[in-house]
Amino acid sequence: MPDFDVIIVGGGIAGASLGAVLARKRRALIIEAEDQCGYHTTGRSAAFWLAHYGGPEVMPLTLASGPKLDRGWPTGERSWLHRRGAITIARNYTDLRDALGANSPEAPLSELKRLGMERRIPGLREGWDFGVDDPSCADIDVAALHQACLAHFKRSSGQILCSTRLKSAKRSGDRWAVEAGSERFTASVIVNAAGAWADAVARRCGVRPLGIRPLRRTVVQLRIGRSGLRKLPLINDALERFYFKGESDNRVWVSPHDETASEPCDAAAEELDVATAIDRFESVVDWPVEAVERSWAGLRSFAPDRLPVFGFGSEPGFFWCAGQGGFGIQTSPAAAGLCAALLLGEPPTLNERPFSPLRFESEEN
Ligand SMILES: Cc1cc2nc3c(=O)[nH]c(=O)nc-3n(C[C@H](O)[C@H](O)[C@H](O)COP(=O)(O)OP(=O)(O)OC[C@H]3O[C@@H](n4cnc5c(N)ncnc54)[C@H](O)[C@@H]3O)c2cc1C
Repeated sequence: MPDFDVIIVGGGIAGASLGAVLARKRRALIIEAEDQCGYHTTGRSAAFWLAHYGGPEVMPLTLASGPKLDRGWPTGERSWLHRRGAITIARNYTDLRDALGANSPEAPLSELKRLGMERRIPGLREGWDFGVDDPSCADIDVAALHQACLAHFKRSSGQILCSTRLKSAKRSGDRWAVEAGSERFTASVIVNAAGAWADAVARRCGVRPLGIRPLRRTVVQLRIGRSGLRKLPLINDALERFYFKGESDNRVWVSPHDETASEPCDAAAEELDVATAIDRFESVVDWPVEAVERSWAGLRSFAPDRLPVFGFGSEPGFFWCAGQGGFGIQTSPAAAGLCAALLLGEPPTLNERPFSPLRFESEEN
């Protein structure tokens, strides 16, 4: 029976990025249920890096990841970032307070008045008079980043098995006996990087689930009857009802910022969410919507406190790398480094305490 130090369950960005760090130091295997890695949430993101997104506890992970993404971590081929900038907009000043409160020296924000906003967002409708400018926001080349992680993992002797769903795992002594697809393995550590299935995977391993909930988020690609949209900043609503960004000269990606509870599944956009996205978009700019070219949805997974879960819990040999919510791509290099340090027993360079699975130990889920 093939034996590994670490079996990583899930080949999305969480499993791939951690694998990229671990593979030189441990005999590692990634098992992925689908026939390709990245089929679920990782392949469906809106692909931006936004310093303040996810709140103050997540920000150190995002800020530590930014320069790495810019240098093409983990391979250094080229930068995965393309600077875009973001503007958070509001109809009244009080709605902007939270956005302004997030100001930090590493990614400074500045206030915009109506005139400045009109220059950046031509066709902005009446009433959107207040804005916060965040020039540090960037697009991430998610597919290239993910592929680079997988390639680096393989070059470092890591193995990947697709179409191999973890069925069950039993701990005996200091090893796991794992049944996955038609295969059997042994390993000393299982990493749970199963995204929306994180709790389901824990149950299959006889480990207490943590209450990680998948929430559906929709994105719609619209063709617009005007050009010059490619470099449009990411436009965020201060009240979190929509965001949109230019995708090509005459296309935009719009999200209605939905968070609908879902079972773990192959998520798809629902008509109502698509209609809501268009409605909210049209309330911001006077650009003619010519067509809905495509729409999709993915599951963002959240622990009860909406912070990621990184580390060993109380069950030996079971490592959590889950609950990355809406920031799993932009935090991936730093999260992978932190998880690798925790797994290998090395001193972490970031504060791991907010993310420890042990924070849920006294709670009933
Ligand atoms: C619409 C949308 C927009 C987003 N925008 C951004 C953004 O702009 N920036 C950002 O940083 N983040 C964004 N995110 C969030 C980001 O995409 C996620 O945080 C990230 O992709 C999570 O990665 P993951 O590897 O944990 O999950 P996944 O990519 O879902 O990977 C988990 C994998 O585990 C596999 N798996 C499950 N069960 C098993 C099993 N039993 N055996 C084997 N394999 C199994 C699944 O098949 C899956 O491939 C967005 C998400 C969505 C949905």
